[in-house]
Amino acid sequence: MTHPVRVRFAPSPTGDPHVGNIRTAVFTWLFARHHGGAFVVRVEDTDRARSVQGAVEAILQSLRWLGLNWDEGPDIGGPFAPYVQSQRLDLYRQAAHDLIGSGDAYKCYCSPQRLADLRQRQTRQNRDTGYDRRCRDLDAPPMPEDASQTPVVRFRMPQDGSTAVDDLIRGRVTFENRLAEDFVLLKSDGYPTYHLANVVDDHSMRISHVLRAEEWLPSTPRHTHIYKALGWTPPKFAHLPIILAQDRSKLSKRHGAASFLEYPRQGYLPDAMLNFLTLLGWSLDDKTEILSRKELVHHFTIDRVNRSASIFNRDKLLWTNGSYLRSMTPEALADALLEYWRAYPTPQIPNTPRRGLLARIAPLIAERIKTLDQAAPLIHFFFRDEIDYETEDLIQKGMDRAVTCTALERTLELMTAAQPFDADTLEAALRPLAKELGLKPGQLFGSIRVAASGLRVAPPLFESLEILGRERALSSIGKAVERLRSPAVDSPPGR
Ligand code: GLU
Repeated sequence: MTHPVRVRFAPSPTGDPHVGNIRTAVFTWLFARHHGGAFVVRVEDTDRARSVQGAVEAILQSLRWLGLNWDEGPDIGGPFAPYVQSQRLDLYRQAAHDLIGSGDAYKCYCSPQRLADLRQRQTRQNRDTGYDRRCRDLDAPPMPEDASQTPVVRFRMPQDGSTAVDDLIRGRVTFENRLAEDFVLLKSDGYPTYHLANVVDDHSMRISHVLRAEEWLPSTPRHTHIYKALGWTPPKFAHLPIILAQDRSKLSKRHGAASFLEYPRQGYLPDAMLNFLTLLGWSLDDKTEILSRKELVHHFTIDRVNRSASIFNRDKLLWTNGSYLRSMTPEALADALLEYWRAYPTPQIPNTPRRGLLARIAPLIAERIKTLDQAAPLIHFFFRDEIDYETEDLIQKGMDRAVTCTALERTLELMTAAQPFDADTLEAALRPLAKELGLKPGQLFGSIRVAASGLRVAPPLFESLEILGRERALSSIGKAVERLRSPAVDSPPGR
């Protein structure tokens, strides 16, 4: 009988999720969906000192935004609930008790002070640091001075030989047992360590495959021994390559967003982000950069995961996002913008634009933006009655106030006459006007652009005018003419 695929994402709520955490979630989710298995979310909050309020919600929100749906988890429950380790303490205590019973674990009464002194001595003598196994073979608890100390429970690790870990990505990795100390399973506060809780839960939740970051590989031989001592079959392991910054330093807040939730705010698309994160350590071949969610699920297998470090390249992320934006239909881009502005309101777009109008505008900027947050500064004038600019901005290089005024007056005449009021007709009328006035097209169009949009850099002019419509275009340009005619308004006295 083949066992169903069950995988888990097991974050520790110690702070805001970062790219590395979420990449693990992405790979785990893709693996589950590729194999038609279950994706489980489990909160590993046994380190009470490091748990941070709100961290679980930030993690779940990141998963939701990326569209990584889970089948069992802290919020929705499931057959192996609860999915929060601090609510499962009895299970870990029972396992520790069993391990003591079988002689695979023992109580250790050493005080934190003794352990600190020991470590100091070992460091001074240039020896490997680690627990010296003083309590390993005690017949009875030491008396009397340490008797009040609540003991921890330590695992009895073998002292010679080696432990092999078969990793689906790295192959067989061997660890020398003599380097392994008798690590703690249960702390004196009654909480388990990561090692114990992780093993107990992966077993009790019937996890078939563990996908996790490479930094956990050195912990795996410990886990292997716990499984063996409890008579359990371990899951299969796949340790995902580390993610480095472009200069190959450790990825830090400096390189990416401090919190993963900054990406939605910065205007990245979930599908583009999913695509980008999957390529951090996985590839289909040596050239394919864009894969849809469906394609990723279809192709995702562990044998395509790299062993070497992945490099986080922010330009590539921008490029990927830009490429998704360009390939969207106008309606889809309009919807993405509306959703973005709903989630992150901007004063530049004070009222919700009409979807139909936005879908006409969207194609004008699809080529120019790489993230959704770049849209509002380019198109806000479509949605506002009053536009804001300095009168001087109307006057292009090589022009003066009078010439600009005449040019815009003539523009008003031609625009009033244009029939129909569309991009082609307007261009056909206004190009010759530049010539007639002895201006370069760029000069005339620059003035019109500022008059109509308030912007020096804006979407293509004639298409924008067409979408603004005759009435609004005439009104904005009329206002620009008025400004130019009344120099007193902006010029300092005596100029
Ligand atoms: N709680 C661990 C973490 O935050 C999980 C490691 C594992 O998946 O075993 O990374």
